Amino acid sequence: MDRTDGTFEARTAGRERRGTGGWEDVLAGDAHLVTPGGEWRSKLWSIAVEQFNRAADLLSIEPDIRARLLEPRRSLTVNFPVRRDNGEVEIFTGYRVQHTLTMGPTKGGIRYAPGVSLGECAALAIWMTLKCQLVGLPFGGAKGGVRCDPNRLSHSELERLTRRYASEIFPIIGPNRDIPAPDMATGEQEMAWFMDTYSQHVGYPVPEIVTGKPLVLGGIVGRQVATGLGAVYCVESVLERIGLDLVGSRVVIQGFGNVGAVMARELSNRGAVIVGISDVTGGVASSGGLNVDALMTWVGEHRFLRGFPGGDPVARSDVLEIPCDILVPAALERQITEDNASKLDCQLVIEAANGPTTPDADRILADRGIHVVPDVIANAGGVTASYFEWAQDQQKYLWDSDAIAQRLRTQLRRGIQRVFATADRLDVDWRTAAQAVAIERFAAATRLRTIYP
Ligand code: NAD
Repeated sequence: MDRTDGTFEARTAGRERRGTGGWEDVLAGDAHLVTPGGEWRSKLWSIAVEQFNRAADLLSIEPDIRARLLEPRRSLTVNFPVRRDNGEVEIFTGYRVQHTLTMGPTKGGIRYAPGVSLGECAALAIWMTLKCQLVGLPFGGAKGGVRCDPNRLSHSELERLTRRYASEIFPIIGPNRDIPAPDMATGEQEMAWFMDTYSQHVGYPVPEIVTGKPLVLGGIVGRQVATGLGAVYCVESVLERIGLDLVGSRVVIQGFGNVGAVMARELSNRGAVIVGISDVTGGVASSGGLNVDALMTWVGEHRFLRGFPGGDPVARSDVLEIPCDILVPAALERQITEDNASKLDCQLVIEAANGPTTPDADRILADRGIHVVPDVIANAGGVTASYFEWAQDQQKYLWDSDAIAQRLRTQLRRGIQRVFATADRLDVDWRTAAQAVAIERFAAATRLRTIYP
């Protein structure tokens, strides 16, 4: 049985049937229920499956191991009420998906966004597993979130939502089970609420229940900037490999949040010229370069980029097509698609966001000779620094901030060198190589643990 091929026929092929029992008719309208993996069905999950299968085929992974590597081990859907500031009660849906429990506790962020679904969390969770294995961390992947529009919620509504969501997923998380972290629209404050809620439940402080916490609650220097910084280390390694100088390189970044803003600042500090940037409210461009400090100040005061006076306004959808050397999607998934891949005018794509490129777009970019540094390595800096934070909290022993910065750089550079070496050895693109490195490790661990009982 091949659970990675989603059809009913594939699932039942070769199996003796004990009469039909009429189930096909009953299930006809709910095809996903008879489709293995149908629970996770979503656009992002399809992308994850296609990418995974390409690498698994290359490695000739056995069908039974393949199915165990692909589908999430455990998942939870929760519905819970939150009282709005005006006294009304709204019901929210949240998820937590733990992809694998094979190599250690699970680790992954929490996002607040209108499109959050079980399938989206499943795709993001498998990518977390791959990231951790690629960088050599003792974790499996997880992901969670709440379906909501965070821009519609006040600070106190966000606090109530975070605390209630933390309580709802309490049964399956823990410092040795599953350790959440920030992702889209969550940051230090949400992690502080999360840590406090968990600690109130157990009756003593547990800083190691989440990473990405404020420093005074057991966070580490540099976690907040680690994802963006890790992506910058990847940029440096790639430019060394393809022989391009960062100084004077033109960069376009989609997204000006935790990841995008840090990348803008760090790349600009290293001599790159930021010629375009966007957020949910629109884009801004300047062929002579945008002033990143001024952008930061503007967003600090106005929350969004809209109205920024230091450049030309650009429609949000056009930002990715601004001519540049390095394009950084650092906002959302599925932004580079078959509709716009042929219009990109860049040499290199750095996937700071998770899943920003669809498989169709991947093929177009490859045909056009545009290199793609895949998400599983490009944004692995966040989980790497999270690992340092978790280890420090577990040990109750403070790490020196220089040691943290040094180890982050070393670990990321090692990870991307593994990707290059595997791409050369197998003669494949960097995405397939990155997935292959990770899947090989994960498969080895799965085979060794065999099957219980
Ligand atoms: P964030 O919420 O801090 O920032 C997201 C940014 O994208 C905001 O500026 C938002 O306005 C912008 N945005 C939203 N919709 C947009 C659109 N249609 N066009 C242009 N911009 C848009 O989120 P983040 O933490 O920076 O995460 C960004 C991406 O990086 C996500 O894919 C996330 O999964 C990934 N990531 C984040 C971390 C982390 O540590 N924060 C780690 C790994 C991966």
